[in-house]
Amino acid sequence: MKHAMPVPHPNPPPQAGEGAKDRCAALPFFLADESATLTLAQRLAMRLKPGMVIYLHGDLGAGKTTLVRGMLNALGYTGRVKSPTYTLVEPYNIAGLEFRHFDLYRLRDEEEWEAAGFRDEFDGRSIFIIEWPKNALGLIPQADVEIVFEILPHGRNVAISSNTPTGRECLKLF
Ligand code: ADP
Ligand code: MG
Repeated sequence: MKHAMPVPHPNPPPQAGEGAKDRCAALPFFLADESATLTLAQRLAMRLKPGMVIYLHGDLGAGKTTLVRGMLNALGYTGRVKSPTYTLVEPYNIAGLEFRHFDLYRLRDEEEWEAAGFRDEFDGRSIFIIEWPKNALGLIPQADVEIVFEILPHGRNVAISSNTPTGRECLKLF
């Protein structure tokens, strides 16, 4: 992707020399089945704050959208959670929180990003959960929390880490 412009972030990244304390060692979890993924989602949902950015990494079928569905359901959303594969984003307003679920698997380039008006989405008020964030690096704010899924023959491994004070707070007592 060319000419990536930095995006202002509500939780600016720490300056040199600071911030190491905000980068926790990745917390590992083994999720034996879908219900374990949904339980993890529930625990995360209780810690979401407006403006928070969460990246979800992992192959197709790893459980990223399942985790988002679990979070939304935990907050009281009872509708269908669609994977925004073609629309790239699905907005929700739930429990007084604005929520944006991105799936950037099919994002082609920066032009498409700009044309869709996504730059203006990142207002620091909504909660942003982003699948395939690496397809928009430089266009999206840095993550407060990153979750990496690994597909196992039975179940999934996940590693959860924080990059900011907000992320660290979110993972406290986890
Ligand atoms: P992604 O969004 O990463 O492409 P999805 O969440 O759409 O993946 O699909 C994941 C699939 O894996 C679903 O069929 C879901 O039921 C299943 N799944 C979710 N979590 C687990 C788990 N911990 N162990 C085994 N299967 C899981
Ligand atoms: Mg998905």
